[in-house]
Amino acid sequence: MVVVRGLQKMKLLQELSSKLNHLFLLELCDGNRIEAVFYRGDTLCISTQVGCAIGCAFCISGKEGFLRNLTEVEIIAQYELVRSKLPVKRIAMAGIGEPLMNWKNVEKAFWYFKNRGIGVSFYTSGHPTVRLRELLRLPHGGVTISLHSVFEKKRKALMPHGGALEEVIRTLKEELVELPVRKRRRISLAYMLLKGLNDSEEELIELAGMAKDLGICVTLLRYNKTVDEYEDVEENDYERAFLLLRSYGIRVTLSTRFRRDRIGGCGTLAVNRSLTEC
Ligand code: SF4
Repeated sequence: MVVVRGLQKMKLLQELSSKLNHLFLLELCDGNRIEAVFYRGDTLCISTQVGCAIGCAFCISGKEGFLRNLTEVEIIAQYELVRSKLPVKRIAMAGIGEPLMNWKNVEKAFWYFKNRGIGVSFYTSGHPTVRLRELLRLPHGGVTISLHSVFEKKRKALMPHGGALEEVIRTLKEELVELPVRKRRRISLAYMLLKGLNDSEEELIELAGMAKDLGICVTLLRYNKTVDEYEDVEENDYERAFLLLRSYGIRVTLSTRFRRDRIGGCGTLAVNRSLTEC
């Protein structure tokens, strides 16, 4: 019932398809807009907030700052609307917003999906860590914690309100030992390579040490350019980083072509734009 009400309040304004992905521009009852992306033929990346307070320097989703939390109904309604058109089998809470900063509504939506047999994965800065602990204990389909730098100062510059790196790592250490190996394998550190900024051998070796210490894998991301100041690395450098991490025995997941698409989800979705700007 809740969902029907939500659907009436959420309007599908526009759809945009690339060869790989399908982007939905949605208008909320107060006129704010959010976006959701269907990718990989079965997964819907949804938004959890209008705007984002983390303010990652390389991300277009946070450029307007934080406007408001989505309600539980608005989070669910993205799925209900898209599943009437496409076969959504999985949800990724990786669109606009930091899921942990809208925890009450995100958690309720999580259980709505879970009770319908839909797996849910998360992308998060890890902040606030008290919520990160709760998230890690849920029966989720994967949690990826964005680092983007292993140095406190640099990470703060890249993710100004993403919490202290040291606290995120300490929380992971404390929580991971409590989890069975099967569940630990679903948790990874996201590291997006930015040319000349965080792609040095020194930093990658530190990253390898951190992942090894935690016993989890690294999701090595390419930058989907949405902000002028930052550049993606060359293919050779991406491969070099992959091989270096592998040489330290780290499991590494690479950016898929779906994520590298210009409407590839995390970091590429915007608030209150018209799709002609894409
Ligand atoms: S990358 Fe994620 S956490 Fe960072 S500003 Fe964008 S939406 Fe927020």
